[in-house]
Amino acid sequence: MTPHIAALIVAAGRGSRAGGGLPKQYRALGGATVLRRALTAFVSHPGITRTVAVIHPDDEAHFSASSAGLDVTWTAGGATRQDSVLRGLRSLADSGATHVLIHDGARPLVSKKIIADVIHALVTAEGAAPGLAIADSLKHVSHGSIMSTVPRDHLWRVQTPQGFVLRSILAAHEAAAGQALTDDAAVAEAAGLTVAIVAGDDDNLKITTADDLAHAERLLTLRTADVRTGSGFDVHRFSPGDHVWLCGVKVPHSHGLDGHSDADAGLHALTDALLGALGDGDIGAHFPPTDPQWKGADSSEFLRHAADLLTRRGGVLAHADVTLICERPKISLHRGAMVQRIADILQVAPDRVSVKATTTEQLGFTGRREGLAAQAVVTIRLPL
Ligand code: MG
Repeated sequence: MTPHIAALIVAAGRGSRAGGGLPKQYRALGGATVLRRALTAFVSHPGITRTVAVIHPDDEAHFSASSAGLDVTWTAGGATRQDSVLRGLRSLADSGATHVLIHDGARPLVSKKIIADVIHALVTAEGAAPGLAIADSLKHVSHGSIMSTVPRDHLWRVQTPQGFVLRSILAAHEAAAGQALTDDAAVAEAAGLTVAIVAGDDDNLKITTADDLAHAERLLTLRTADVRTGSGFDVHRFSPGDHVWLCGVKVPHSHGLDGHSDADAGLHALTDALLGALGDGDIGAHFPPTDPQWKGADSSEFLRHAADLLTRRGGVLAHADVTLICERPKISLHRGAMVQRIADILQVAPDRVSVKATTTEQLGFTGRREGLAAQAVVTIRLPL
């Protein structure tokens, strides 16, 4: 039988120790949320045939934003991680999946190699988990003092994804329901399943605190030393109307802008700049104006698509700078909102985004107020 391997991404936790009031898996990390990076690793892996996320139902809006455009479905989690995994496994019971890889949604930097190694181990093993032998000395500590040294022979720390034969791990979880076991390998052990160890990776860290998030940012920066820049330019003509869309913000104006989509020249220039930095064509190639599905489209979709291409390449966005060129509308009132909107779409901190405006001293088509123009420069970092 050809293996059919599902990925179950566990993201139902409410932990917000990483700061920002948001559960950690929905925090931004270099151009995508933590969860989106984890999901993308599995969705884009050729060995995985379907990806299901287990989320807290209250997080549905966050999840939709984090999974937009990805081939992922979700199911509601329970009160504990173990309960959430059980619910996720039950949702896969009749899916045709033969195996499942269970992964923490808060481990965004999982490598293709770890996923492939776990899958490969499942050819012969009932279960497999990535692990690292412990190099530091281990101490038993009580009241702030070392009581004794713990022999570390045979001691490993394990990560996710942990892979299993689906029906075996589902039965094991059903049998373990209500117990408090720390991970799925422990559930498998309790059921007598054999779990093989494959090589883990220190970069495959689990984000729990703000320090972990900062560490993941540094790891991403270290991995991405290939700095590239792209530029974009766009023009739209004014037409009858009472508002324009610029940099994702609705701006009241004496005219509208003519275009197939929402005619947001700012986001179009920015999308082209990002595609330019990636060397991946232009906005017209990705979203042909002849295609009726993009009529009236929200241009944030175009920019999000380009940002996803960056995430799939393992890259991060370093900076985006947009210049709007027009006599009217006046941009200064809206600049803060535009910066925030672009930062939200790109999943970066607002200090990585700049929006500014200029006129052409009443010269040319922008000076005659026939239309407006936008230009953008984007700097990205890709893996070497
Ligand atoms: Mg355009």
